[in-house]
Amino acid sequence: MKDCIDTVFSGIQPSGGLHWGNYIGAVHHWVTLQSQYRCLFCIVDYHAITQAYEPKHFQAKILDMAADLLASGIDPNQSIFFIQSDVPEHTELCWILNSVTPFGDLSRMTQFKEKSQQHNASINAGLFGYPVLQAADIALYKANKIPVGQDQIQHVELVRRIVRIFNQRFGTLFPEPEPMLSQTPKILGLDGQAKMSKSMNNTIEFSANQDVVRKKIAAAATDPQRKRRNDTGNPEHCNIYTLHQFFSDKETIAWANHGCKTADIGCVDCKKALSTAALDHFSEIRMRKETWIAQPDNIKDILKTGAQKARVIAQETMNEVREKMGL
Ligand code: SF4
Repeated sequence: MKDCIDTVFSGIQPSGGLHWGNYIGAVHHWVTLQSQYRCLFCIVDYHAITQAYEPKHFQAKILDMAADLLASGIDPNQSIFFIQSDVPEHTELCWILNSVTPFGDLSRMTQFKEKSQQHNASINAGLFGYPVLQAADIALYKANKIPVGQDQIQHVELVRRIVRIFNQRFGTLFPEPEPMLSQTPKILGLDGQAKMSKSMNNTIEFSANQDVVRKKIAAAATDPQRKRRNDTGNPEHCNIYTLHQFFSDKETIAWANHGCKTADIGCVDCKKALSTAALDHFSEIRMRKETWIAQPDNIKDILKTGAQKARVIAQETMNEVREKMGL
């Protein structure tokens, strides 16, 4: 029985399976929150359609993401786990919140500016209004704790502003949510420069096999100052060391830290140790994923049941919203 009434909401796009960045930065954190909070975890397909996608493969991607999340430890007995479009109240509340969201606030969102540069040919109004749908996702369940990375803080601040405007105009209904930062440092991509992201093509897939993991780690960037084997390095400037801090045990982390600073170890050995630790971490998860993938109907049932539970809460909220707004 959870003794906390705080509600956590988070979502992830079905963009074709997890990668190490979103597993370490988000999903692993979600799993730890389940026993303490009322949690809702959502596959946000309405968000995904703001970018180019292939409808024929969309359901397969949703199922694959669901299998990854279940294999990672999202527990449908502890959390409400569902697909966004199975709860149409998300878009209904989004429209309502659109009507109180200042246009200027949306145009200042860093993520919109970045994404619109990446997808220059296909910028649509949905991409621009994406933060309002995020606000609706959160407000619909009166969630007050939002697990995010540093780069998402601006979005939570905008959600706080949107619900504050709504509350002032129509009467208090929604809590102003607070960001919950995970303890894990920011995971950079294999280039060691940009955030790990599929669109940057610098990821390791969650279900990558042994060969792929070892090959990708072997080619990954390290401390740029450590050019030769005899050069000493600074592990704090190396993404491989950041990953060690997540995957490796204390002794290995200390070995990498000391060996890097003194040049006692080379990057090849340091990377081999990281690959071994990461493969070990993922071995059970990979087996669980195979089990889930073999039972797609069970996954669909879990998602449908989750949507039914989410909808009960969402409909209650929408009744309150309509009453306050005179709709
Ligand atoms: Fe990075 Fe390890 Fe090489 Fe140091 S020894 S630069 S931590 S890979």
